[in-house]
Amino acid sequence: MPYSYLSHLECSRTGTTYQADQVQGVSEVGAPLLARYDLERVRASVTRDEIAARPHDLWRYHEVLPVRDPAYVTTLGEGMTPLLGLPAYGASVGVPGLLMKDEGLIPTGTFKARGAAVGVSRARELGVRAVAMPTNGNAGAAWSVYAARAGLGSLVVMPVDAPEITRRECLAAGAELYLVDGLINHAGALVKAAVEERTGYQDVSTLKEPYRIEGKKTMGYEIVEQLGWQVPDVILYPAGGGVGIIGIHKAMLELRELGWIGQKLPRLVAVQSTGCPPIVEAFVAGLDESTLKEGTHTLAFGINVPKALGDFLVLRGVRETGGTVVAVSDDAILAELGRLAAAEGTWICPEGAACFAAVRELRESGWIAEQEQVVVLNTGAGLKYPETVAVDVPVLAPDGEVPASA
Ligand SMILES: *Cc1c(COP(=O)(O)O)cnc(C)c1O
Repeated sequence: MPYSYLSHLECSRTGTTYQADQVQGVSEVGAPLLARYDLERVRASVTRDEIAARPHDLWRYHEVLPVRDPAYVTTLGEGMTPLLGLPAYGASVGVPGLLMKDEGLIPTGTFKARGAAVGVSRARELGVRAVAMPTNGNAGAAWSVYAARAGLGSLVVMPVDAPEITRRECLAAGAELYLVDGLINHAGALVKAAVEERTGYQDVSTLKEPYRIEGKKTMGYEIVEQLGWQVPDVILYPAGGGVGIIGIHKAMLELRELGWIGQKLPRLVAVQSTGCPPIVEAFVAGLDESTLKEGTHTLAFGINVPKALGDFLVLRGVRETGGTVVAVSDDAILAELGRLAAAEGTWICPEGAACFAAVRELRESGWIAEQEQVVVLNTGAGLKYPETVAVDVPVLAPDGEVPASA
C-alpha cells in the first residue's frame, strides 16, 4: 500500500490543478497551492485504531502527508506534543475545560519544526539541493536544522530584531545567514532575488511552497486524536503568516471527509497583536483580504507579519467555522504569560500567551461559554524568549544568609 495518497496540488484561489511530483511554488495567479489526497482510498486503507497504535510522531498520519517514499522522511521525533489540562488557570479565567497543546516540547522549541520536517523531507524527495527563506526567526531555525539533517543547504534572511537565539540556531546548523535592517517582507524580497540567481535552491517562504501547511495541519489531526477523535468547541491560534490556522482548518475538513469526525467543526480564532493586526482589521471590516500594515511591532515576533500571502485562507477558515479574531497588546501578553507560568508552571512563548489573553477577553464578552472545551496552541517554548521574564533578585554575599521567610 502507498505510504502517501497525495494525488495533486490545487490553486487555493481558482481550483486549477497542478502536478505534485515536481518542485512547485505558487499558482499562476500567485496563490498558495494546496496538497490534495485520494481520501477515499485513505479511508479504505487505514483506520483510526491503526493510527492510534503507531509511533508517537507526526508521521503517524503519513497517508495524508506528501512524502511518497519513507526513505526521504527527515525526522527528529517531532509531533504528538502534550495536550495539557490547565485546572488552576482555567478555573481562574472561567473556562475549566481549557487545554493547551504545548508545541514548546518539539525539536527547535517551536511548532515550526512540523512544517520544516515535512517541507524539507518532500523537497529532498523532489531533488531540491538547498532551501532559501525569509523568517522572523523560528522558521529559519527549524528549516536550517531539518535541512542539515537532510543533507541540504539553507539560506536564511531575518530582521535584525528577530530573537537572537534563532540566529545561533541557524548558524549551529550550518545555514548561510543574513540579517536585514527591516521586516520579514523586506527579507522576502532579498530571498526571492537570490534564488533567481542560484541553481538548486527552492524559495520556501511561507506558503510559497505547498508542504509547510501539510506539516502544520498535523496539529489539527493530533488535537482530534488526543480528544478521542472528537473536536473541541474552540481552537485559538496566534496568526502571523497564518499557516497553522490554515493547516488546522484543512485538517478538520479532511478528517470530516474521511469520516473520522462528525459534521461539527471547532470555531477557529485567529489571534494577533494590536501592534500588527492586519487580519483582525480585515475580518472586522468584512474584507476577504488584508492590506499591508506599515511600521508594525510586537514582542510576539512570530506574529509580526504585515501582510500574509494566505490572509484570505485564514479569513475563510475563521468565517467558515463561525470563529472570530482578537488583537491583544504586548502588555496583556506579558501579564498573561506571567499568570499562566505562576499558576501551572508552564513558561510559554509570547505568541501563545496572546491566545490566553484572547481567551480571557472572549470569556468576559461571553463569546466563549463556561462549559466549552477550548484548546490554545502554545506555539513555542518560553525558554526561547528569556527577556519575557525580568530578573530582579537579591545577590547574597558568600557569608550572607537567606531571609528566614520571604
Ligand atoms: C511563526 C510563529 C507563529 C505564527 O505562525 P504562522 O503559521 O505563520 O501564523 C506563532 N508563534 C510562533 C512562536 C511562531 O514562531
